[in-house]
Amino acid sequence: MRFHILTLFPEMVMQGLNTSIIGNAVEQNLIEINVINIRDFTKDRHKKVDDYPYGGGAGMVMQAQPIYDAWKSIVAQVGYEPRCVYLTPQGQVFAQGMAKEYAREEDLIFLCGHYEGVDERVLEEIVTDYVSIGDYVLTGGELPAMVMVDAISRMVPGVLTNEESGSTESLEGGLLEYPQYSRPANWNGKEVPQVLLSGDHKKIESWRHEQSVQRTLRNRPELLEEAELSRADVKQILK
Ligand code: SAM
Repeated sequence: MRFHILTLFPEMVMQGLNTSIIGNAVEQNLIEINVINIRDFTKDRHKKVDDYPYGGGAGMVMQAQPIYDAWKSIVAQVGYEPRCVYLTPQGQVFAQGMAKEYAREEDLIFLCGHYEGVDERVLEEIVTDYVSIGDYVLTGGELPAMVMVDAISRMVPGVLTNEESGSTESLEGGLLEYPQYSRPANWNGKEVPQVLLSGDHKKIESWRHEQSVQRTLRNRPELLEEAELSRADVKQILK
């Protein structure tokens, strides 16, 4: 899968995505991250990419021309118009299901805004999806793009070395994950729950599932409306 990130701050994105699991996935050619500096496409002789908003108001607006030309360079490179995500607090809030869906694309373009945002006319021309990473306002779309690349890449086959770790995680099946423990069995006077030391895999699985239901009920009860629940789960919830 290829990610194409349109930004004014390429170094920020490159530094943020070249380590750990995502860095390894790039090295193994499981994903490709193509960072494009919008400024390289400006026709302004001072390399300007933003200007004052028509109608007045605070801040600067990113101009249409350099963004459009940068986008066209990607389209020319891949030979078609891939989905283009504009990161914006005005978009649909990103969630795990969307990460899974995006992971099926061959190419995905991200447009990172900055300052007061982007000239609406170029958004109308190139953007197919408006996505927010949460109800708060950030200074730019770079962190949101990195968040999305990370979450989507984890859904690309082969990126997670232990396939299982992707399928038991929080939000899979609509529930939060059970608590995790590692060595030693006693730390700071706190014991690991006995069942995890029992070697009885059926019991462990059922304990973990109960813990998931309880955690979801306690921390994110609204998720239970969409979760896949058994009769036993419902009984547990109603207790
Ligand atoms: N004036 C814009 C508005 O009210 O919608 C906000 C501009 S914000 C300061 C600058 C850029 O940061 C945006 O163009 C967008 O790309 C990015 N951004 C800020 N908050 C975001 C969020 N919650 N999710 C995704 N992108 C965000």
